[in-house]
Amino acid sequence: MKPILLGCIADDFTGATDLANNLVRAGMRVIQTVGVPSADLESEVDAVVVALKSRTIDPEQAVEQSLGALAWLKKIGAQQIYFKYCSTFDSTPEGNIGPVTSALMKSLQTDFTVVTPAFPDNGRTIVKGHLFVGDVLLSDSSMRNHPLTPMTDSNLVKLMQTQFAGRVGLIDYKVVSKGHKAIKEKIAEMTKDGISAAVVDALSNDDLMELGVAVKDLPLVTAGSGLAIGLAQNFGLKPNHSHALLPNPQGHRAILSGSCSEMTQKQVAHFKKQGNPSYALDPLELAQNGSYLDKAISWAKLQFDKGAGPILIYSTSSPEQVKSVQKVLNVQQAGELVEKAMGELALALVGMGVGQLLVAGGETSGVCVQSLKVLQMQIGPQIDPGVPWCFSKTPSHLHLALKSGNFGREDFFTHAWTVLDQQS
Ligand code: ADP
Repeated sequence: MKPILLGCIADDFTGATDLANNLVRAGMRVIQTVGVPSADLESEVDAVVVALKSRTIDPEQAVEQSLGALAWLKKIGAQQIYFKYCSTFDSTPEGNIGPVTSALMKSLQTDFTVVTPAFPDNGRTIVKGHLFVGDVLLSDSSMRNHPLTPMTDSNLVKLMQTQFAGRVGLIDYKVVSKGHKAIKEKIAEMTKDGISAAVVDALSNDDLMELGVAVKDLPLVTAGSGLAIGLAQNFGLKPNHSHALLPNPQGHRAILSGSCSEMTQKQVAHFKKQGNPSYALDPLELAQNGSYLDKAISWAKLQFDKGAGPILIYSTSSPEQVKSVQKVLNVQQAGELVEKAMGELALALVGMGVGQLLVAGGETSGVCVQSLKVLQMQIGPQIDPGVPWCFSKTPSHLHLALKSGNFGREDFFTHAWTVLDQQS
């Protein structure tokens, strides 16, 4: 198999898919792996995205896992490494963006990298090193209240400096707007001055395309998923529809929704309003009745026997309903119970011939992929920004769409299938 061009390390699962999606759109053939694979790649690709779950774990463990991914990516020939984090720079003063960046730089023996969570298509822009989420500063966005990584400062230079061993600088929009040559000159100047990481402003896709050219020779780039749009050109690749083609879909169609995010609630309501078959899971019944899940499985089987599909099984509920469940079961217990049920349902559905599965919810997606023992996914056409169809060859011929909370438009649960239909 030919060596790959770009090797990516992502600090969470749905973020990895978001990055893979942008790389495919820019013209690369991409496989996403769940952790570092022990088997060979299932097809020839230009880029591999290794999905870790390292965003909020202990920094030492995050470094260890990232170095493990790096070693494997180097072994399969990666010419450049992309460390992907969240477009809202989710981290704490301890890390894990800074420590992982330092460790990757040391291992790659490089003394300079860029830092840019910008993703203008999704409203993430950087001005004078300050990150905006839509129209507000990061520190004024809902991220200020995040339970694990509250973001109460928007100054990326300061945020990175607190958690990074080397000196951090800024390449501002005045330089970026002059194009790739000016950015390269600034990088050379900063390297001479002993700066090892530069936050880069970006207000538009054009800025990311120019930055893409400027970082061609850097062994390591660190970014959200946005910078991906500017890298394929460095390898002589252009957007190519055929690179997003997946094998033909087979089997029944089903949706599992364990997300309670606002957009998912709208998507469930929309799907039901169209008269499609749906089954609501009650977490309290799930806790009390050991054979409750069998009812949902029998219902699904009956639907497929009748020739129905896509079908929906969901635990998606309003915040009030979730709170009342959590009063009885507590937050963690309720979450784990529903996640376990979703994992079992995924396995049962595929067992009864589902070949096209849509999962709503970041954690829910992780659990279902784990339960199905999916280790590699080829990335296909985009359904909505950040959510592509994926294909897993083993252990069974399966098309998967994994949607985190607020992603996708309101008719996502009905519209997603038309994207698969169009390609077959
Ligand atoms: P999102 O991407 O929208 O955050 P996740 O799947 O990551 O979705 O998280 C949703 C969490 O809520 C999961 O742990 C899931 O098990 C839990 N959950 C789902 N439905 C319910 C419910 N009805 N009551 C309580 N917890 C629920």
